[in-house]
Amino acid sequence: MDRISVVIPCWNEEDAIPIYYAEMSQVMKTLGQEADFELIFVDDGSTDKTLKIIKGLNEKDPCCKYLSFSRNFGKEAAIYAGLKAAEGDYVAVMDVDLQDPPRLLPEMYHILREEDYDSVATKRSTRTGEPKIRSLLSKSFYKFINKISRTEIVNGARDYRLMNRKMADAVLALSEYNRFSKGIFEWVGFRTKWLEFENVERSAGKTKWSLKKLFCYSVEGITGFSVAPLSLASIVGLLFCMLSFLLILLIVIRTLIWGDPVSGWPSLACIIFMVSGVQLLCTGIVGQYLSKAYLEIKHRPIFILKDSSEERKEKGNENKDIESGK
Ligand code: UDP
Ligand code: MG
Repeated sequence: MDRISVVIPCWNEEDAIPIYYAEMSQVMKTLGQEADFELIFVDDGSTDKTLKIIKGLNEKDPCCKYLSFSRNFGKEAAIYAGLKAAEGDYVAVMDVDLQDPPRLLPEMYHILREEDYDSVATKRSTRTGEPKIRSLLSKSFYKFINKISRTEIVNGARDYRLMNRKMADAVLALSEYNRFSKGIFEWVGFRTKWLEFENVERSAGKTKWSLKKLFCYSVEGITGFSVAPLSLASIVGLLFCMLSFLLILLIVIRTLIWGDPVSGWPSLACIIFMVSGVQLLCTGIVGQYLSKAYLEIKHRPIFILKDSSEERKEKGNENKDIESGK
């Protein structure tokens, strides 16, 4: 029998977890004959009752495991920690708010078993229910990143996917600190089938992504999967050199013909502003890459565990040993 591990990042999801577990139980029943499950809830430093609820699930149902971070490390870190802990032959990544419908899982599993694919990924066919400005910014981001990056980042792609052990191991081999899973899943290659589904509204709770967080996430994607912005400085520099050469020629000719009355300081001021603006922009871009490289070479851990179901089990066993006098 196959084992399917499901990695579920949770940050302040006390309302969503019970609804998710009820839905997932149905799916586990459907696939009960073919596979057994391991649900790995990753508590990403929640400040509500999330940890208590997943501990409760772990006591009630041994297939529910949990990892708990010492603080909020972000969804990407939670995915990485979950993948590391997963022991299944197949590994899925899924949000807890039912925006990644668990009912698709049996279909995904059957595709992997019967067809020649290593992973089944999902994308939203619509963005209904999402604020207009957010959709617009997301679309522009995908257009931009796909122009400048060789790794294709699919518009509307969710992190929700099921992959085989080989691909999961490949994803884990990329142990970078600045993680952008949508890019990593594409970068490792393998044959992927895409399933589309209509956007679903959150089952409970609120979205954890503010515009500021989304902006940082997009910078992560761009700096992680393209170095094209670094060439911008050279390109703009070259253009400006050519432009200034033409202007010098123009000024020399004009002075030879009409003499040299002092005028044109406003245009000079504008030019100084523009050029220094472009210089700062380019320095800023270099700074972005430098800061990512800086964080990378510090080799800090991607997450820090405070508690986990494994630890709890070991402690339980130790206590039993003491009681039985071993
Ligand atoms: N999440 C997390 N850590 C974070 C932000 C989000 O573990 O710092 C989890 C969250 O609990 C949820 C999933 O990532 O299970 C997706 O978050 P959300 O639904 O807020 O994102 P959206 O669907 O709005 O893009
Ligand atoms: Mg969501």
